[in-house]
This record gives sequence, C-alpha cells and structure tokens, in this order.
Amino acid sequence: MAALAVDGGHWIGGERISSPRTFDDLSPIDEKVIATVARGGPGEVAAAVDAAAKAFPSWARTSREERARLLHAIADGVERRLTELAETETLDNGALLRSHLRGVMPRVAHNFRFFADRLLGLGHDDFETRGHRNHVSWDPAGVCALITPWNAPLMLATWKIAPALAAGDTVVLKPAEWTPLTASLLADVTAEAGLPNGVFNIVQGFGEEAGAALVADPRVRRISFTGSVPTARAIAAAAALNLTPLSLELGGKSPLLVFADADLDLAVDLAVEQYDNAGQVCLAGTRLLVEEELAGEFTARFTARAAALVQGDPRDPATDVGPNIHRAHLERIDGFVRRASAEGATAVLGGEPNGDLGGLYYRPTLLTGVRPDSEIVREEVFGPVLTLQTFRGEEEAVELANSTRYGLAATLVTGSPERAGRVAARLVAGTVWVNCFFVRDLRAPFGGSRNSGVGREGGDWSFDFFCDLKNTVTAPWAR
Ligand code: NAD
Repeated sequence: MAALAVDGGHWIGGERISSPRTFDDLSPIDEKVIATVARGGPGEVAAAVDAAAKAFPSWARTSREERARLLHAIADGVERRLTELAETETLDNGALLRSHLRGVMPRVAHNFRFFADRLLGLGHDDFETRGHRNHVSWDPAGVCALITPWNAPLMLATWKIAPALAAGDTVVLKPAEWTPLTASLLADVTAEAGLPNGVFNIVQGFGEEAGAALVADPRVRRISFTGSVPTARAIAAAAALNLTPLSLELGGKSPLLVFADADLDLAVDLAVEQYDNAGQVCLAGTRLLVEEELAGEFTARFTARAAALVQGDPRDPATDVGPNIHRAHLERIDGFVRRASAEGATAVLGGEPNGDLGGLYYRPTLLTGVRPDSEIVREEVFGPVLTLQTFRGEEEAVELANSTRYGLAATLVTGSPERAGRVAARLVAGTVWVNCFFVRDLRAPFGGSRNSGVGREGGDWSFDFFCDLKNTVTAPWAR
C-alpha cells in the first residue's frame, strides 16, 4: 500500500511542527507503513499548551453565535472532505469503509453541528431568594487536554473537541499513536473554516511520552480521556497533583441478555452485530446471556449467521468483518482465547486468527463452557470474541449481567415491556438498550459506571464538564 499524503506533523498555534523523532504509522490492512508521524514529548506539549493558553482569553470572549458559526463551518469542511476522511480512517484503523462513509464521518460532522446548536440554547432560568437574583452561567474553563483511542479515532475525538470549542475552551488533542491521521486532516479543516490559531492544537506521539506530559501540565484545566482502565489510572494519578477535573470513558464487558420470550431473529441480529468493527467497540455486548430453554436454538441460529459473515479487506463493500488494529493487539486477543480454551472453554465458532487471510484478521469467535469467574468472562478482550452463558429467570440474569467490575452498557431482548422495565432498572450500566443496540440521541448522557468511567458527557452534560459553572447573586437594586 502506498504511503498517504497526510502530514504527520503536530499542529500547534496554527502551524505544522515537526519533531526530531518520528514513528511509522502502519495500516492494519497489510501492516505496511502509510505515514511517518512526529513523535512529540514534553517540549512539543509545552509549546501546544502555550499556544492554547495564549488563544484562550480571546476565544473565551467570542460570542456564542460566532463560535456556533465556526463549528458549523468545520462541519461543512468535514462534509466536503468526507470521502478523504473515510478512506484515510479505513487505511489507518481498518474499520469498514462503508461504515465510515455512511455512518461515522456524517456523525463527525453532526458532532460539530449538534454542539453548535446546543450552545445557542444553553441556559437556565434564574432563581430568586428574598429578591436576590441567582443567575447561572457556563464560563469557559481554559485549556482542555483530550486523549483518544484508536478504535473510532475521529468520531471519539470530535465528540470531545466539538463541546470543548463550543464551551469557549481551547484544546490540545493527543490522538492514539496507532491512528494519528484523520486528526491531522481535521487540523486542515479547522484552518480552512477560519478557527483562530491556537484554539485547536494537536501533539502526536506515544501515550507515555506526549500523553503523560500533557495530563501533567498544570495549565490544563480539563482532561477528557477515552481509553483503557490502566491508562485511566495513570491519568487520574497525574490529574490528582493539579486537581484537574477529568472525565473518563473506559472499557466494558457488557452483557447482551436474551430472554425466552424474545423475538429470536432480533436477538440473533443484535448478537451478530457485536462483531462490528472486528469487536473493537467499547460498548459491545460481548457476554451473551441466554435463557436456558432458548439456548440451543439461539446458538444454532447465531453460529449459522455468524459463520456466513464475510471477512476481508475493509475497503471491499462485501466485507462484514475487517482486520484488528495491530499485531500486538491480535496476539493479545489470541492470548485470551487460548487461556480460556486451556481452562475448558469450547470455541463453537472461530477461536483463532484467520489463516486464509493472513495478516491481522481474527475469526469471529464464540466460546461456550466458560466459567462465570474466568478471565474471558470478566476482562475486556476488545476483539471479535463473544462468550455464551445461560441463565434461569430474571434474578440469575441480573446477577450474571452485573457480575463484572465494568458498567458501560447492557442490551436486553425480551417481548415483555414489564420485564424490560424491571430488568433495566436493576442493571448497572451507563446505557441500557431494550430490543435495540447502538442507537443514542446526542442530547442524552453517555458514560460508564464502576470501572467503565467517571462522569458523563453528551448533551448539556458535556457543557457542565467543559465549563466552570458560576452563580452570580445580585441584590435588589436600590431605587
Ligand atoms: P489506551 O488506554 O491504551 O490508549 C488511549 C490513549 O491514551 C492513547 O492516545 C494513548 O496514547 C494514551 N495514553 C497511553 N498512556 C498514557 C499515559 N500514561 N498518559 C496519557 N495518555 C496515555 O486505550 P486504547 O487501546 O487506545 O483503546 C481501547 C480502550 O478504549 C478499550 O478499553 C475501550 O473499551 C476503550 N474505549 C472506551 C470508549 C468509551 O466511550 N467508553 C470508547 C472507545 C474505546
């Protein structure tokens, strides 16, 4: 695969900046180098935070209307470059091109439009106490450090960039080192849209170097992180030193509960959907929990459907499941499956890399015979690997569903609205889907319970996080 013409430099103060050190960015499609990227460290981070801090006072004073106008101009730019962004993202992270074209990149543009429009309506009625007016305002907080993962690079970055910019904050983004490219293209889009220099900055590089320096900078007033639990711990420890407010969107081990009264076709469809993005979806319902009496029929129907999924090049419109992100990650996935098999689990589907394709393709896998306390049931694999357990009745279903340290999402499939209400109320999860999956209104809160996260973003919750809320109390004016 030919190298891409994407600039792998940092974006600081409205300029491309190189670093003496670089790293190779590989495509998961064939593990070939597609770009050479600047490897930032403390020096580049300090320069980016300087630029963001310098740009902050004037950006914070910009009217809401002007900020909304610029966010819409960025969305226009994303839409103009939609194909380029989609193709670049597919080469860089291996997710399906058709998903990027139809779903992901339109959503990137929508992230900007949504927060632009929401900003214009942001407000609260005044409170009054003994004639004193209490007026609530959402003040810009300052420089925000945004740190993002590789599984949905531009979508997850813009989910943070858009509300931060709308809020009147300035941004330093540290994209994931396995997928640095679409962020770089977004920098061009922001410049074309006329965003003032220094309002949006990027430092490329590794987590332990660029990321760690960024979250430790005392001038940073917000840290919003999406990624894994171990990294979140390191970031939270760094944030503690400066008492920097932080928002953490982390991993999951979400259940998909299928009750005997479920529409079986729907249940199978929803279960097969968990292989999307080669299983590299934080919200994926990777633990299939099926009511005992339905388990045989469900397993037969599910394995037949899943075995027919087409695995291959993510640019081919016929492909359903593409590659995993990196050789190290593929080996990690395989390690989970091997250890589970050694403990007695059976792979009724898949269970190994796809030898026909070579490279980084892991076969969609279903493991049965798994122990409730085993690693494969408790830990996030982040690959196309599902487990199947059975339950008897609601009580056991809820107990199994809530039995991990995570609480990101849960899906339940049932024909009974009463059961849906009872079970949903008892599930520990930031999002519960009933007879559906992955649908969400951007006005709703998003985040995880337990080790799946700290705080909520989405809708006005994003503004609450990215702003300093202020109550101005005014005494009655003397007559
Ligand atoms: P990761 O934690 O390894 O890396 C995420 C980001 O953190 C990268 O940009 C990395 O460079 C950076 N980083 C690493 N060490 C750092 C440090 N010490 N200081 C600062 N930054 C550092 O995660 P990943 O493997 O890129 O992503 C997969 C994880 O993300 C999975 O656990 C997945 O569930 C989770 N995720 C969660 C959500 C959500 O919304 N809850 C969405 C997508 C992915």
